[in-house]
Amino acid sequence: MVFRRSLLCLAAVLCLVLCSCVPYEANAVSSMQKYSGTFYGAFDTIISLIGYAEKEDTFNTAFAETQKLFEHYHRIYDAYNAYEGVNNLYAVNKYAGAGPVPAEPELIDLLLYMKELQPLLLDRVNVALGSVLSCWHEYRTIGEAVPPIEQLQALAEHCNYDDVIIDKDAGTVFFADPHLLLDVGAVAKGYACERAAEALLNGPMPSFIISACGNVRCGLAPKDGRKHWGVGIQDPLSEPFLNKMLDVIYTHEMSVVTSGDYQRFYEVNGTRYHHIIDPDTLFPSDYMHGVTVLTQDSALADALSTCFFLLPYEKGRALADSLEGVEVYWVLEDGSIHFTDGMGALLQSQGASSLR
Ligand code: ADP
Ligand code: MG
Repeated sequence: MVFRRSLLCLAAVLCLVLCSCVPYEANAVSSMQKYSGTFYGAFDTIISLIGYAEKEDTFNTAFAETQKLFEHYHRIYDAYNAYEGVNNLYAVNKYAGAGPVPAEPELIDLLLYMKELQPLLLDRVNVALGSVLSCWHEYRTIGEAVPPIEQLQALAEHCNYDDVIIDKDAGTVFFADPHLLLDVGAVAKGYACERAAEALLNGPMPSFIISACGNVRCGLAPKDGRKHWGVGIQDPLSEPFLNKMLDVIYTHEMSVVTSGDYQRFYEVNGTRYHHIIDPDTLFPSDYMHGVTVLTQDSALADALSTCFFLLPYEKGRALADSLEGVEVYWVLEDGSIHFTDGMGALLQSQGASSLR
């Protein structure tokens, strides 16, 4: 059985809309109106934008630009399709084993960003794991079996990020190992989300919230008297369409990104295989059901949520406590919930609200 992520995302969008509509005291008079819109396609997901603007036109323009930007980044980070005139990830994966190939600047920037993050991610998140991940992708698409470990181990011999030679000045990428493949799925959506947020924050509608299936980016506080947006944490153990939330995080100008075992998976003989692969076992990681990371930058939040998902709680907790401006909420494999002190201060269950 293959689970369709877009349907789950619809549930997440509904959840966001509900959370951002929690009752409030309208004690601040504002001429701003709340608008919202949704589009589908970029990053194979449903993306919604809610914003406060004086005029509908302002929202419509911001919405159209946001959609355009997401679609632009989607084409560049797409590993499965070619687009005319775009030197995207698909083209790089296809040709960079034979020699340096041109790559879009947005792809080069993301690859360099991931090189920079490498020490922080404790070798858990590796964008050069593409050959292993694409093998899982093929088996997941068919949905009938799991890849043989021997096949995964053979592919894992070709996953060294040092073999990816990036020349920013020349605008090229070269794979020193011709069997290597890149997969930027762990961070691309967050990276694109941050670029969209930058554009919105610098435009006429800086009070907004973007939700891109597990990646939420908040702009300035809602212009309706509330001080914060409410972002729901979905219960990874509940039926997706029940839309049950474990808690609500109240925040603004921050990203809230979740990695979960319920977001994309398939089942073989009653066992569930999700899409986040432990680079040591080469199988789906089984420490967590879900991890939610709060930090300002959406790309960092995205990379870290995948990283924390791949770490046992104690190691993840030590990493989280060592990082300034990063808060984490874990739902462990046994269903137990843990969160950092700073995260606790933002949770509805701990007394936080949209007004304080
Ligand atoms: P989602 O894509 O559902 O938002 P994540 O941000 O956690 O969730 O990223 C999961 C994606 O990251 C996978 O679909 C795959 O493309 C990629 N991925 C999975 N495991 C790893 C890993 N160990 N290192 C790098 N990328 C990974
Ligand atoms: Mg991620």
